[in-house]
Amino acid sequence: MPNHRAALPPWEKILQQLNINEAKPLPTERQIALLRALVESEHDLRPTLERSINLFPPAFLAEAALVVKSTPAAIALVASSISRRTALNLLRSAFLHRLAGAKNITEKKIPHSDKKIQDKYQFAVCCPVGERRNGFQVLLFGHQPLSRSELGFLRFVQRALALRYRATALQQQIDREAENLSLLTHHLSEGMAVLDQNLAVTLWNRPMQRLTGYSPREAAGKPYYLVFKRTDNSNWLEELMRVYLETPLQNVFNAEFEITTRDNAARWVNVSGSFMRHGEDQISQTVIIVRDVTQTKLLETRKNEFISIATHELRTPITAIKGYLSLLAREEQSLTEPQRTYLNRAAEANNRLARLAEDLLRTVQVEEDRLRINLRPVDLAKVLEKVCKDLQPKAESKGIQLEYAEPAFETWITADEEKIHQVFENLVDNAIKYTTEGTVRVSTDRYEDNSQLFIIVHVQDSGIGISSKNYDTIFEKFRRTHDTAQIREAGAGLGLFIVKSFVEKQGGKISVNSKIGKGTTFSVRFPATESPKPLNEKE
Ligand code: ADP
Repeated sequence: MPNHRAALPPWEKILQQLNINEAKPLPTERQIALLRALVESEHDLRPTLERSINLFPPAFLAEAALVVKSTPAAIALVASSISRRTALNLLRSAFLHRLAGAKNITEKKIPHSDKKIQDKYQFAVCCPVGERRNGFQVLLFGHQPLSRSELGFLRFVQRALALRYRATALQQQIDREAENLSLLTHHLSEGMAVLDQNLAVTLWNRPMQRLTGYSPREAAGKPYYLVFKRTDNSNWLEELMRVYLETPLQNVFNAEFEITTRDNAARWVNVSGSFMRHGEDQISQTVIIVRDVTQTKLLETRKNEFISIATHELRTPITAIKGYLSLLAREEQSLTEPQRTYLNRAAEANNRLARLAEDLLRTVQVEEDRLRINLRPVDLAKVLEKVCKDLQPKAESKGIQLEYAEPAFETWITADEEKIHQVFENLVDNAIKYTTEGTVRVSTDRYEDNSQLFIIVHVQDSGIGISSKNYDTIFEKFRRTHDTAQIREAGAGLGLFIVKSFVEKQGGKISVNSKIGKGTTFSVRFPATESPKPLNEKE
């Protein structure tokens, strides 16, 4: 736990706060020595008083000092500058009992009746310190009353100790609350860590120990990257923080990665966290919640391995079938009409199978982050024109009009041409697939946002539409939102998952807007780039 005691202001500051100028003349060296001992102590009130008891008499030109704790019923000795026996003897006096109950600084002449004390001292002063019910009383004994300046200084002492007492009480409360919080977090099933402004650990619960191998004691005060080691990037949190400070739109983050535990084992974790901002360019605290996803990751990897192997194995027979079918097609004139129909159907089915295998392979590549993206300047309008031309026959065969509105402005973006082609081929293909009559329209627009120009492409159809509650799910893999019995369209529900991944990997964004029974518009936007200069213009 952080030590808040260290944060207490230095004694000079306290003197200032206490307005030492009130005390005239200036405090003596012995008084300063006493005040210093009381204020600078690292200890709680009681040990502070015990340790500095011998500094009290010289500071007040007194003969003896006692610290007691008094209740209406009894008076107990805490510390004394004289022998314990003599001190206990003094405390038997009824006069002292009354004096020790004083609420404010009180000075009394010792009465003649009190022989035991009168033998030794003539005056006694009681100064209550700390809190009324929980505090102590400092008793000073001497031959003469305290001077005005000594009384003034005693009031400073009292106030300095009250300050010290409050600081200690606050510290104890903070410690207790930190302890409770830490106990509470130990019972969470997820790992939880709190980091300070320097990203050093201030809280680390037990599940974090199970995840990383480092105990709360070992982690406390360490920079996070020493105890929570991301295998592929040790400064991931600083990087996220920098991005957040530059564009503070969202203070929460989520990431999934592998960590290396204390005994060098690998573990997959899902980390959600949030930054707490302090002023313009500082983070005061970061909280992270960590979940162990090693098992899920393992299953996912095995599933992806299986899909990879299965689809690779499928590719060979699919290619062979394609070859034989095209051989047969060459003999078209010797085939009967029904044979030709069968041949076309077989070719179509085989093409669908080939597309499915490709989609499965791409899905695995996306999931394993193995997608190779080759960024170059791409003229979007050219890609869209080609996609529409290729899909024209399909639209015509369904009696649907496929329109392409050629833009009157430049449409250069930085992207992977092949992947961009796949994106729009998929969207236009879907638009035709899920439309029974009417038009599919592909159009382009541009707009400026924050001095960045964007090109936006709309693929609009007049088809069956998508319910708004499914706007998110259609982009998940293997998700098909329409009843397959209702629409006899083939598909595995991978297309939009791949489309979204491709778009986002190339710095774009995709959104959907639809009305059931009226039609759907998919909009894809990319930041525009300058058109590349032809080679001969370069000089
Ligand atoms: P698939 O078309 O293979 O089922 P996709 O991932 O391409 O898979 O699409 C997911 C689902 O989204 C589709 O099954 C369909 O229900 C819905 N969908 C996609 N595009 C459209 C569209 N243009 N109009 C209506 N529904 C659509």
